[in-house]
Amino acid sequence: MREFLSRYFGYKEFREFQKETIEAILRGEDTFLILPTGGGKSLCYQLPALLKEGVCVVVSPLIALMQDQVKALVDRGISAVMLSSASKNEQSIYESLYKEEIKLLYVAPERFRSQRFLELLESINVSFFVVDEAHCVSEWGHEFREDYRKLGLLKQKFPNTPISAFTATATPKVAQDIQKALNLTNPFVLKGTIFRDNLLLNVKRRVSKGYEQILHFLEKYRGDSGIIYTFSRNESQRVADFLNKKGYLALCYHAGLSNELRSQTYKKFINDEVDIVVATIAFGMGIDKSNIRFVIHTSLPKSLEGYYQEVGRAGRDGLFSEALLLFNSSDEISKREFVKQIDNEVYRSVAYKKLDTMYSFAISSKCRHQFIAEYFGDNIKRCESHCDNCTKDEVKKIDITRASLMVLSAIYRSEQRFGQSYIIDLLRGSKSEKIRQNRHEKLSVYGIAKEFSKKELEAVIERLFDLGAIVRGEYKNLLLTQVGADILKKREKIEIDEDRYSAMKKISIKESIKEVDVKIHPELKRLRKEIADEEQIPAYIVFSDKTLSEFSRLLPKTKEEFLAVNGVGEVKLKRYGDRFIEVIKGLKDV
Ligand code: ADP
Repeated sequence: MREFLSRYFGYKEFREFQKETIEAILRGEDTFLILPTGGGKSLCYQLPALLKEGVCVVVSPLIALMQDQVKALVDRGISAVMLSSASKNEQSIYESLYKEEIKLLYVAPERFRSQRFLELLESINVSFFVVDEAHCVSEWGHEFREDYRKLGLLKQKFPNTPISAFTATATPKVAQDIQKALNLTNPFVLKGTIFRDNLLLNVKRRVSKGYEQILHFLEKYRGDSGIIYTFSRNESQRVADFLNKKGYLALCYHAGLSNELRSQTYKKFINDEVDIVVATIAFGMGIDKSNIRFVIHTSLPKSLEGYYQEVGRAGRDGLFSEALLLFNSSDEISKREFVKQIDNEVYRSVAYKKLDTMYSFAISSKCRHQFIAEYFGDNIKRCESHCDNCTKDEVKKIDITRASLMVLSAIYRSEQRFGQSYIIDLLRGSKSEKIRQNRHEKLSVYGIAKEFSKKELEAVIERLFDLGAIVRGEYKNLLLTQVGADILKKREKIEIDEDRYSAMKKISIKESIKEVDVKIHPELKRLRKEIADEEQIPAYIVFSDKTLSEFSRLLPKTKEEFLAVNGVGEVKLKRYGDRFIEVIKGLKDV
């Protein structure tokens, strides 16, 4: 195992869980691994695929993702191919499979509909199946795919072939569902900690469209790679235009663009020819670009699973990376409109729950990493240093008991039938038509909170959400929970952080600037780009940022020293060693 790890992959050590998972696969067991994005799942099946006889069949959801994996494997001297509707050489792939010349075969789940393919699998030696991005199997997951669910047939048709399923994001419920749907038999299950210690999570209230905040954030990431997720296609176009005007290299990516244009943009991003992709969620699933330094969301995502997958695309090389989520409370309301249109009642209620969780995450004052870990059934301590909530300075608390009681009783008196803005109007004594129609000017709560501004009451309502005192009903109406009813009855004291209260009035976009620790000698970066261009592969496949910064630090001048750097294997030493050593020897500071 170790020999192959270093020979083919150039790594000196296994990461957490890799060895155990590989050993289980080598023992021929079914396995199920939950490991955060960037945790190194691919190696867990790629290495045993090389050690086992036969071909390993990998099911993966996206062609672009498969292409990348195959490219990276071939570059390491491993025989891997992808069979897709776009493959022109299907016949020759089939022949190579019969001749046992291939170690890893990548296919989309739809491929299993083909009788010809199933017959092929029956007549060759399949070492084991891999179900990548396995959360797509579960209806409770966030990217459910019908064809993934049908992969249950693998065990029925090939009862003696082990299956390994991998995902980055599964709640305990989803994890169970996946194992059941795939008919895994007594699987070896490993669950990595969800905590990513190189990822800084920031959540901020959006000011206007958030452009100024984005600019401010990007100041420290000039020339770095990043993804900005937007709500709509139009928005992605507008943000990309705006950034280009400000001197950033940005392109937009969404389902409204032609396949060709999208694939060009994808390639440019992978090859470091464009720094920022401004996208709808159509972009980035399974993307293996190790040097993404930041991910920004311009509004509230639909689910915490989706959010964590998206931010998880940053920092796969283990270097410091940052996520910024911009939101305001109207985001949740507009997303609810979309959910409302889902016909299937079960899916709709799952989608509402996911949105509620996402909103609670955004407004929460708890450690962000801890919040996420808990949601995925993991228990961790506060991160102390990797999220906005843990790193914010000590702030004064403001007593909002009186305003909270007013809000709770207004919700109660108006029979929990109204939404946030109505409740605020009611409390501030608005003369609106709707209030008159409902004869609510007669209620005792009418106009009792005139001394508070609209923004202040919004902050109070948000705090009540955060405390679990209220929830939103299906029609955006606010409902009291047991916690809320208790607060009302016992007149419990409610406090809010001053910055959250005043943030509602005026938001400062000044944020602390963190140092980014990627020191790479420009000459080494230039050589990497030169080789990448020659070989028409992405730069990070030649060497990752992390390996390159190790070269800068260690300045290896012999083949032995070069090979000793983490990320260099024999294949890469042979291919690129001489050229890098030559450049290193010629550096001024050597
Ligand atoms: P995942 O599929 O879990 O999101 P990947 O398999 O893409 O993660 O791995 C993330 C990054 O970590 C890749 O750049 C990969 O080459 C690197 N990596 C994987 N295993 C190791 C290891 N043992 N040592 C160093 N780097 C590794």
